Amino acid sequence: MNVFKKPNLSGGWKCPICGKSDEKEFVLIGIEGTEEGLNIQAEQVHLDCIELTYDTRIGFIYQKIEKGIK
Ligand SMILES: [Zn+2]
Repeated sequence: MNVFKKPNLSGGWKCPICGKSDEKEFVLIGIEGTEEGLNIQAEQVHLDCIELTYDTRIGFIYQKIEKGIK
């Protein structure tokens, strides 16, 4: 996963986890259900907001976030 320095703030972007638009390191997270061929839409997420959990029973790595924070 690539880490980028400054998020693109156009369109009023806010991190979906913290709800802020701070200019700090971020990663791109693919959005489920948006795959088209080899492409997938992605959301910018602050790197230091990510705290993942690995569910070994179902093979998912995830983070539950508060819906509708944007
Ligand atoms: Zn954040």
